[in-house]
Amino acid sequence: MKAFAPRSLEETLLRLGEHPDLRPLAGCTDLMVSEPEDRLDLPGVLDLQRVSELRGFRWRGETLEIGAVTAFSEIRDSPDVRQSFPALAEAASKIGGWQIQNRASLGGNMANASPAGDSLPVLLVLDAQIVLVGPEGKRTVPYRDFHVGYRQTALGPGEIIGWVQLPRPPQGATQFFRKVGTREAQAISKVVVALLASVSDDLITEYRLAAGSVAEIPLRLTEVEEAMVGRAAKADVADLAGHLAAHAVRPIDDVRSTAEYRRFALAQVVRRMTLQLVS
Ligand SMILES: Cc1cc2nc3c(=O)[nH]c(=O)nc-3n(C[C@H](O)[C@H](O)[C@H](O)COP(=O)(O)OP(=O)(O)OC[C@H]3O[C@@H](n4cnc5c(N)ncnc54)[C@H](O)[C@@H]3O)c2cc1C
Repeated sequence: MKAFAPRSLEETLLRLGEHPDLRPLAGCTDLMVSEPEDRLDLPGVLDLQRVSELRGFRWRGETLEIGAVTAFSEIRDSPDVRQSFPALAEAASKIGGWQIQNRASLGGNMANASPAGDSLPVLLVLDAQIVLVGPEGKRTVPYRDFHVGYRQTALGPGEIIGWVQLPRPPQGATQFFRKVGTREAQAISKVVVALLASVSDDLITEYRLAAGSVAEIPLRLTEVEEAMVGRAAKADVADLAGHLAAHAVRPIDDVRSTAEYRRFALAQVVRRMTLQLVS
């Protein structure tokens, strides 16, 4: 098996140009625990961990750019993320345990494309854009178009995720994140929810809601969003939001939960978040 550990983006793109079938790897927390046949049949691997251009945080005007190999512990502890994107810092702090957070990357969470990936609903409500890079050049894709089917992404051959771009949220918006699992840590989500919303002059003026583990891909719940914007910020809207959310998803029964429980938990989480928003 071929294995490369490039030291720069230039070298990374050179390798991908020569061998577009190389499998990128970052923290390896998904890849190393995948089915043996998925790992052993790999034509080759490209370790992105030493590519400094793909790690860390930089503001570009009002947009924070995060390198794809940045680990969740760095995201959890970043003052920029904690201040401007607290829901992402919160999600990062709930992924696996500390050992996993030290290795697992944001790009790996996206590319692994599990419907239960904890950072994914947050990226959806933050209206993230992602920069994909390959030997043919760069392209920017709205994150909401990245997951094209169950564990399928918009990545082309020889392409990797380079950076995630987060526009600064609207002034006064509140962010919420909630993961429902079997335990506080080291649990794959039964349901994971993110909300970014604003209230102004007693009206809900912004309401962006997303959930994971409730369909084959992480979803923005646009029906709920449209129903909430413009409503009076009163406690009774919380029940409506929860009810609509439960009907906007298509969960399944699996080893971690039942579809019925997932709908119930989603409704409760959305109701509580909305109640907190309007209180
Ligand atoms: C014990 C344990 C607990 C976990 N708990 C959670 C949890 O609570 N919540 C959660 O969401 N996840 C959890 N995970 C899953 C995993 O840690 C995350 O999905 C993590 O973000 C994967 O990142 P990574 O860098 O380790 O990816 P890797 O394993 O290195 O790669 C994962 C996939 O992404 C591809 N890839 C990686 N980087 C790129 C890139 N830049 N461009 C293109 N493709 C790329 C790889 O080819 C591979 O297909 C857990 C895993 C373990 C083992």
